Amino acid sequence: MTKIKLQKNDKVLVISGKDKGKTGRIERVITKKREVIVSKINIVKRHIKPSQHRSVSGVVESESPLAISKVALICPSCGKPTRVGYQKKNNEKNRICKRCKKVIEKTKEEPDKK
Ligand SMILES: [Zn+2]
Repeated sequence: MTKIKLQKNDKVLVISGKDKGKTGRIERVITKKREVIVSKINIVKRHIKPSQHRSVSGVVESESPLAISKVALICPSCGKPTRVGYQKKNNEKNRICKRCKKVIEKTKEEPDKK
């Protein structure tokens, strides 16, 4: 099985399915299932029942996972959807864009909003 080349916070383009053509940022990579959760993509509505923690019922919208094959990484350098390659440099394995050959910098995690 090939290694998953996508990481959290990567910007991706949806290439198939109902959200085809939309872009978003990866919120979570589900390695075992080879799926990703992309912000604002593949939104499903869920009905919530009242529970101990919640006094009212209602509908919440949340992202449901997408198969990794349905998204393509958008290169931060050339801004186009691309395939990812690897390049070894100073004992570090960097992801590179196969279009412009530039290293895809790891996106810094945004600090938690509190
Ligand atoms: Zn590029």
